[in-house]
Amino acid sequence: MNESERLSLVEKLHQKGITDKAVLQALNNVERHLFVPTAMQHHAYSDVALPIGYGQTISQPYTVAFMTQSLELNPEDKVLEIGTGSGYQAAILYSMGMKVYSIERQFDIYLRTQKLFDKMEIRAIIRYGDGTIGWEEYSPFNGIIVTAGSPKIPPSLKKQLAVGGRLVIPVGDKNSQSLKIIKKIDENEFEESEIPQFTFVPLIGREGWNQK
Ligand code: SAM
Repeated sequence: MNESERLSLVEKLHQKGITDKAVLQALNNVERHLFVPTAMQHHAYSDVALPIGYGQTISQPYTVAFMTQSLELNPEDKVLEIGTGSGYQAAILYSMGMKVYSIERQFDIYLRTQKLFDKMEIRAIIRYGDGTIGWEEYSPFNGIIVTAGSPKIPPSLKKQLAVGGRLVIPVGDKNSQSLKIIKKIDENEFEESEIPQFTFVPLIGREGWNQK
C-alpha cells in the first residue's frame, strides 16, 4: 500500500515540475511514513507538511523535492542541512549519495532522529546546535539547505559555501518567505534567484530570528 501511494506521490511531483530523475528516484526510495509520528502515518504520502512534535514539522514533499533539485548536487558532494527535524530531507540527500551533515537546535528532536538514523543505518552526520553559524569544521560545502525561515541570509553560511555551490534558504517574515537560491560564483561574488510563497517554521539562532 505504502509503495503504490509513494509512487503516485512521485508522479504528482513530476506533474508539478520536478524533473530531476535522481530526486524523483530518491522520493520513491525513501519511506516517508517512517519519519512521521504513528498517528500521522496515513497522511505520509499526501503532499502536505505534517507535525512532528515540539511545534515543528516535516516539510511538504514538493518543497523537499524542489529544494533538493535546486541544489544541483552530484553524488559524493558535501551538503549541509540546517534543521534536521524528522530526518526526511537528510535521508533523501543521503540516498542520492551525498555526504550529509545536518544540524538541529531542538535537543529532543535531534536525539530522536539520531536514534532513527542508527536504526535505519543512515550515515548522515548530525549534530545538536545553532545551524545559523554553519559547521566550519567540515566546510566548504557544495550545497547548503536551510529548512526553516530566516529574516536574512546568515553570512556564515555564505562563507562556508564552496565556489560553484548553492545555498537554498527561505527568507522573509515569520508568516511567509520566498525561497532564495544563491550560487557562489567567486569568493565574494554571488548570483541570486528567488521563488515566492513558501511557509516554514522560524530559523532561530545567532544569525536567524532572536530566541524569544
Ligand atoms: N528538514 C526537516 C525534515 O526533513 O523533517 C524539516 C525541518 S522543520 C521544517 C525545521 C527544523 O529547523 C525544526 O526541527 C527546528 O527545530 C529547526 N531549527 C530552527 N532553527 C534552527 C537553527 N538555528 N539551527 C538548527 N535547526 C534549527
